Amino acid sequence: MIPILDSKRQYAKIGKEIEKEVIEVLASGSYILGKHNKALQSEFSNFVGTKYSVGLNSGTDALHLALRALDIGRGDEVITTAFTFVATASAIGLAGATPVFVDINPDTFTIDANKIEAAITPKTKAIIPVHLYGQAAEMDKIMDIAKRHNLKVVEDCAQAIGAEYDGQKVGSFGDFGCFSFYPTKNLGGMGDGGMITCNDENLYNRVLALRNHGGAIRYYHDELGVNSRLDEIQAAILRVKMPYINEWNEKRRENAYRYNEMFAKYPEILTPQEADNTYCVYHQYTIRIENRDEVHKLLQENGIGAMIYYPVPLHLQKLHKSLGYKEGDLPLTEKDTKMVMSLPMFPEITPEEQQTVVDMVVKCLNMTKQAV
Ligand SMILES: *Cc1c(COP(=O)(O)O)cnc(C)c1O
Repeated sequence: MIPILDSKRQYAKIGKEIEKEVIEVLASGSYILGKHNKALQSEFSNFVGTKYSVGLNSGTDALHLALRALDIGRGDEVITTAFTFVATASAIGLAGATPVFVDINPDTFTIDANKIEAAITPKTKAIIPVHLYGQAAEMDKIMDIAKRHNLKVVEDCAQAIGAEYDGQKVGSFGDFGCFSFYPTKNLGGMGDGGMITCNDENLYNRVLALRNHGGAIRYYHDELGVNSRLDEIQAAILRVKMPYINEWNEKRRENAYRYNEMFAKYPEILTPQEADNTYCVYHQYTIRIENRDEVHKLLQENGIGAMIYYPVPLHLQKLHKSLGYKEGDLPLTEKDTKMVMSLPMFPEITPEEQQTVVDMVVKCLNMTKQAV
């Protein structure tokens, strides 16, 4: 049995450190907006390379509050990709705005920057690029388009902490960077959590208020806000993990290159591409194959934790029925949705386990071919 992610191996290494910090928080009596939240915010800003960070309940809230802080809402359109987790688009909907989906570059799975301008209308207010699977979107082109059309940029960095484009970390390009600490992410908490990054002091203050019922001063409320704060236990756990993130990302990259080598003799299995000017952190290692659904089923039956991220693109979800998209509108997104499959990937996976995964993928693919 080789799972897609085995969090217990990480815990076996750093569990003692985590337990010590958590017990200290429990005894301290300070559980919300205490010293760990504050310290993590500044450590996070230092890491990403922004002036400010704000700890939140989730990555979804980070995206939602970023749009709220930019005054994006009813009647506004936000351009994004349909090849992502639902939260990217639901944040747009929660803010009251309308998502507009643009097709992907199939080599990188990220939004095709060359197709963004055709989707811009007088109602367009922002672009949300998603650094999917840990690969940075084309931030130079996206920032250039945003500047020329006076649009805001909110980066969905949920899968991409530490990823870089042209040597610069994601989350430091746009007006906001939005991160998730969901346990499966490269920097995962032990519960929900998220972080917003930005460089503008006014936007920073606005998010501080929005996460705390819309007021900077307790019991004085200037606008409609939410309760979305990163709790002290999560912040303490994340502070233990932060110093390891570069090492863990490096291990993921080594593992990805090892998979690439192992798959090299099988040209019918398409391995993920990494653009030259990016530092990909391989939140997922995602291949593309024919007969994907059958292969996936066989792998699961044989104890290989392969996963499909994501089986239905967002423009074809029932949730977005009222937007009026139909099959064929985003052909490259739809094609990849039918072919992608993510394989077990985490820093601690062994080369032997990787070889087992590769052998099983090849075997299962051959089985589906013989069955036809
Ligand atoms: C995980 C994820 C989110 C949402 O983060 P949560 O912390 O689970 O709310 C948003 N976008 C993408 C691409 C994600 O992978």
